[in-house]
Amino acid sequence: MRALRLTEWGAPPVPTDVERPVPRGAEVLVRVEATGLCHSDLHVIDAAPGVLPYRLPFTLGHEIAGRVAALAPEADGVEADDPVVVYGPWGCGGCDRCATGRDNYCDRRDTLGRHGAGLGRDGGMAEYVLVPSARHLVPIGDVPAEQAAPLSDAGLTSYHAVAGARHALGEGTTAVVIGIGGLGHLCVQILRATTASRVLAVDVREEALALAERSGAHFATLMRADTARVLRARAQGAGGGTGADAVFDFVGTDPTLDLATAVLRPGGELAVVGSGGGRLTVSKPGVLPPGFRLSLPFWGTRPELAEVIGLARSGALHVETERFPLSAAPEAIDRLRGGRVRGRAVLVPD
Ligand code: NAD
Ligand code: ZN
Ligand code: ZN
Repeated sequence: MRALRLTEWGAPPVPTDVERPVPRGAEVLVRVEATGLCHSDLHVIDAAPGVLPYRLPFTLGHEIAGRVAALAPEADGVEADDPVVVYGPWGCGGCDRCATGRDNYCDRRDTLGRHGAGLGRDGGMAEYVLVPSARHLVPIGDVPAEQAAPLSDAGLTSYHAVAGARHALGEGTTAVVIGIGGLGHLCVQILRATTASRVLAVDVREEALALAERSGAHFATLMRADTARVLRARAQGAGGGTGADAVFDFVGTDPTLDLATAVLRPGGELAVVGSGGGRLTVSKPGVLPPGFRLSLPFWGTRPELAEVIGLARSGALHVETERFPLSAAPEAIDRLRGGRVRGRAVLVPD
């Protein structure tokens, strides 16, 4: 079968012919119908040797949907041909976190040499993917695979970030979303579907602002020198201008972290999701908003993935996708690098 493999750090992944895997033990073989291309794939491809604990080569792709193709003798809970989405963070399976579906925060994360499907283990940019256990499969019913695949990370990670700040997002509150790409446009939709907050969106691209508005943002603006002031003026609350109750940063560079802390209300919530390599300096006394809380969410939990699929089935979530055949993955990667993907690029086997 064809697979897109990372063979060398810092070099473009290579389309390769590999053997179709055979499931053993409790493994399940999934026939891939769609795999999302995440900005994290670019961070992985670009990583310097030694930065990530993964052994090369492996097949990329961590947002995967398809159908159960074959089960090993000890696998149960799914049946052949079931339409499923793959819960991608694959932990040790034995710690407390994994036992409660929180593989994303596996206690043995640092010793596994992988962070999940397509992140140190062979992923979904291939015709088939081997999943270690049926517990990583969530049924999708009639949600199309091209929707379900991005929901397993772009949707799930956004949902998990919002869940961590939901207590701060009641009536009369304001949320700011920075970076309206694959994750950000779903974060806007999730905020609208599950909180009462007013949603303000920021990006450096006009087309991303249009996507934010289609996704339900109340206001969208370009990232400029005075963006913090513009956003504050749009915030709800006593007389306006009080700042945001929560900021979700899907970029994570110095300028976006500066914007986030400049716009945050005292006691607000800041979730930094983007891996842009920016730094935030903590000092007391200092200029950071008093009482604000910082989180660095990673992916989400298996129960949350089922909730995300439920939201999609109810019609509350719609991923904007651009479809590419797997053989055109290099073009999709170039487009993502150049900021020329609308929503999420999704690869489908040729
Ligand atoms: P994407 O490329 O689809 O979207 C990024 C968006 O940010 C684009 O619309 C871009 O125009 C915008 N942007 C870039 N610079 C900006 C700036 N200075 N100000 C405002 N907007 C700016 O990327 P994605 O796939 O949505 O991923 C977003 C980030 O989240 C990446 O860094 C990715 O690695 C990370 N990520 C983290 C997790 C996690 O679990 N923490 C999971 C998935 C992705
Ligand atoms: Zn990702
Ligand atoms: Zn574990």
